[in-house]
Amino acid sequence: MKNLWSDRDASKLSGVELLAYTSRLIGANPELVVWGGGNSSLKCVEPDHKGQKTRVMYIKGSGSDMRTIERKHFARLRLDDLILLENRSSMTDEEMVEYLGQTMMGGNQPRPSIETLLHAFVPHDHVYHTHADAITSLTDTPHSADVLEKVFGQELAVVPYTRPGFTLSKWVGAIARKDLRLKGVILDKHGLITWGSTPKEAYGRTLSFCTRAEKFIQASKRKRPRPLGRATVKPPAFAERRARMAVLLPSMRGVLSEGQRMILLWDDSRETLDFTGLDGAAAASQLGPMTPDHLMHIKPSPLFVLRPSRDASKLAGQLKQGLLSYKRNYLRYFHRYKEGGLNQLDPFPRVILIPGLGMVTTGKNWQAASIVRDLYHHNLRVIQNASAVEWFQSISEKEIHRFEYWPLENYKLTLLPKEKEFSRRIVLVTGGASGIGRATAFAFAREGAQVFVTDLDAQGAADAAKGICQKYGEGAAASCGMDVGDEQSVQKGFEGCVLAYGGLDIVFSNAGTAKSSPIKDMPLKDWELSMRVNATGHFLVARETARIMVRQGMGGVFILNASKNVTAPGKDFAAYSASKAASAQLARIMAMEHGGDHIRVNVVNPDAIFEGSKLWESVSRQRAKAHGVSLEELKKFYIDRNLLKSQVKSEDVAEAVLFLASDRAAKTTGAMFPVDGGVKEAFPR
Ligand code: ZN
Repeated sequence: MKNLWSDRDASKLSGVELLAYTSRLIGANPELVVWGGGNSSLKCVEPDHKGQKTRVMYIKGSGSDMRTIERKHFARLRLDDLILLENRSSMTDEEMVEYLGQTMMGGNQPRPSIETLLHAFVPHDHVYHTHADAITSLTDTPHSADVLEKVFGQELAVVPYTRPGFTLSKWVGAIARKDLRLKGVILDKHGLITWGSTPKEAYGRTLSFCTRAEKFIQASKRKRPRPLGRATVKPPAFAERRARMAVLLPSMRGVLSEGQRMILLWDDSRETLDFTGLDGAAAASQLGPMTPDHLMHIKPSPLFVLRPSRDASKLAGQLKQGLLSYKRNYLRYFHRYKEGGLNQLDPFPRVILIPGLGMVTTGKNWQAASIVRDLYHHNLRVIQNASAVEWFQSISEKEIHRFEYWPLENYKLTLLPKEKEFSRRIVLVTGGASGIGRATAFAFAREGAQVFVTDLDAQGAADAAKGICQKYGEGAAASCGMDVGDEQSVQKGFEGCVLAYGGLDIVFSNAGTAKSSPIKDMPLKDWELSMRVNATGHFLVARETARIMVRQGMGGVFILNASKNVTAPGKDFAAYSASKAASAQLARIMAMEHGGDHIRVNVVNPDAIFEGSKLWESVSRQRAKAHGVSLEELKKFYIDRNLLKSQVKSEDVAEAVLFLASDRAAKTTGAMFPVDGGVKEAFPR
């Protein structure tokens, strides 16, 4: 394991800045901690608010990520107040949290880690706690104490498993004080704690203990190269896997979203394909998490699909049964150990393992699902390592329940910001590289949606998706090229969306083209292109939408971008107006056919959007001619024409689309919604 310590970098830092630096070195290695796991502390003497020298402890705030941790993520506590608690015999979690709050020095601090007292009771200045894969691979075995003694001798003490809190802190403190030569302790079924007189020493010890554990695991693997048996499943080729998952994911999402919508992330990495294909993976996967800290993300166990059918629709049925039986078992488990007024959490798995196809993880958004994916990769490695050492064993089911329903862990959930209006929604936009499509894609992402941007201009779609991810976070958008007039291209585009996020909730069918000329002069190819994009294009997009949404069984929203020209056509604009009118009629029929499936279908009719619009660039000269004004006067002409005397922008259309897509418009379908500044000629007649 690589030691990242740099004397040069460290020499410029001291105190809590140095603690943050060392914590980031630990966070930089995902084999030590991932996604908010682990914690670190520093004990030192500093002046308090009166200028009096005081013993202080800095401890990582609950939930902050060691990979990116900074000074502000540490709480500053009065150490003598914390140490006083060692004299107590017991303390409830609530008393402890209340007490910790009183020891804070200064306002505006993060909530200190739940392991604060453990750090405080250890009589060493620099203390680091990790959930290192190599260490948990040894702790997660039936005879872990013997295994650990074999590897670490007397340098580390082993503390039996108990949920973090006052008791564990007392145990660790007593062990550390009794033998000052100890370099740390191992928390059984949980992780490693090391300490030292300098951060460099404590960090170095973390690495050297992990390296020793790794070597032992490697030696065990040489002796037992196939602890989970042989590979019994040969994964189909990539294209075949994609095709099956495209059918499977929407129907899975329909079941998994019974309580609240979920985003699904498919992972067919070599590692998951290899693991799920092993003979003994099904049994081993059901034995609990590698560390209870991961329970909030990955739940007690994954769903493992035994003998998956090769037929995609049969497999969909198999998965549905599997998910429902997981739910029944989960509810039994919840009630078996339930005490007091606990609120039951989501009864569905967060990890679904399918031999031959890989793994599906779920979350409220892409990022949450990707955290589950990352954590499970560590989990499956630990299962395999521990199986080579002896056999994988987690904490008991009762302890799993105690941890999963630990009020302090669940309290963290209540601190999360309120979810945005389109959180958990998957939106596909056509023609998303520019103009109205691009503005709408950004607006949906702003409100929390996962956005799949498509466009004839594949690079433009990719740029829009990249821009969204830069603004709203990794995974917020994905993209692919799509020619809406091409049947296969549309199917491939929708498949891309399903494979990226697991399904589909909202489609904004926006791609369009405009050709302007009098009928007598119009080339047939202009007419045909208009029909291909503005009529057939919407049809193909609508058909694919309906197929996926019906399979998913969660309803949905389809919004079609027509034009003011549908109700108030303009001269020299026959191909455009006629093809748009066809699409508007298509939307009405779709609303009729799919009302029973709870798919709402509405039309927006914008007028004269020229800023950032490729469509307008191509016809503005001809439109100016048709209206008898110069190109320079065209903008003013459109502004003067509407009742509000205002320029209609892409963002205005985006807001109308968001409204129609939202639950605020839950009772509106088959409607036309003008966004034209008020054009009286376009009033319904
Ligand atoms: Zn921990």
